[in-house]
Amino acid sequence: MAARTYQICNRCIMDTSDPEIKFDYLGNCNHCNSALDQAQKNWFPDKNGEKLLDDIIERIKYEGRSKEFDCIIGLSGGVDSSYLAYLAVNKGLRPLVVHVDCGWNSEQAVKNIESVVKKLNIELHTFVVNWEDMKDLQRAFFKASLPDQDIPQDHAIFAALYNFADKNNIKYVLNGLNFATESIMPENWGYQAMDYRHLKSIHKKFGAKKIRDYPHINFFQRYIYYTLIKRMKIINPLNYIDYRKDEVIETMKRELGWQYYGGKHYESRFTKFFQSYYLPVKFNFDKRRAHLSSLIISGQISRVEALDMMKENVYSEKEIGSDLEFIAKKLDWSPQEFKKIIDLPPKRHQDFPTNENLFKFGMKSKNYFKNIFN
Ligand SMILES: [Zn+2]
Repeated sequence: MAARTYQICNRCIMDTSDPEIKFDYLGNCNHCNSALDQAQKNWFPDKNGEKLLDDIIERIKYEGRSKEFDCIIGLSGGVDSSYLAYLAVNKGLRPLVVHVDCGWNSEQAVKNIESVVKKLNIELHTFVVNWEDMKDLQRAFFKASLPDQDIPQDHAIFAALYNFADKNNIKYVLNGLNFATESIMPENWGYQAMDYRHLKSIHKKFGAKKIRDYPHINFFQRYIYYTLIKRMKIINPLNYIDYRKDEVIETMKRELGWQYYGGKHYESRFTKFFQSYYLPVKFNFDKRRAHLSSLIISGQISRVEALDMMKENVYSEKEIGSDLEFIAKKLDWSPQEFKKIIDLPPKRHQDFPTNENLFKFGMKSKNYFKNIFN
């Protein structure tokens, strides 16, 4: 196939580094067109949003009035989850706050978690994922040469959170996902983490030992048990406020003694390396492009500012070298072995078994039932 001619969107900064990007006759791309469309349905950064959020919160309080906790929050120490905990406590909710430790926390993330918990006076429950399981899964994903190396971490975090919620009879899962800073991400730059069949199939082919107690959740648990039987609900409160990254960081520095660590998802040393080295070098996917495009669409930065930020070198050669060495060592590889694995020809998630269609169907039916009941 002939290489595609380079093109960049006129409105955001997404470009042909997404091989499936499409442009309309104005030169705007499918990502920002669909984000603007989604904004109409899911984003309320105004008075209306405030009112909607207050209604949701009243309902959560009412339904949880006789319980020890009325909702659950997963705290990573990053911007979104820390601010979510701050917002929930300030609104008078009583969250069960859970940190799932997959073994890659940066020092700053740990400090942030400690300050948030102390300042908000909340109890923290930490779940430590069995490192031998985690390591074997991550080694398998690297050997499979796939783009989304965050799946073993993300899956464990979701699964542990759902388990905690279930055990404590909590119905509301508050999630830091938000339109304002993450409306754009090409589908083919990653794959969804909830697909346990996919994860298992990668491990079966490339894993070296049996997984013992890695927290997991399959399609039926997700959509039948948790959603239909337990009627668990995921709420994204940050979509109901005027969520501005710079302001939020300032507020948290002032109120919580929280510190920024220099990049989206850099609270995990692994994710930093994966996002800022592995993906751009091996796949030509630079997630900053999508993160900055999201900020353009929510009006937080201009397109020119975003283009300037893309030129900044956020990850020095020295840092790359030391992170590569650190990650290789934790995964029981020499730096040379790890480099060889990174150099393997890239694969797609669809080259391995998935339940992609089942999940798409699950999403559709969930929206269908949601529309009926509303
Ligand atoms: Zn665009």
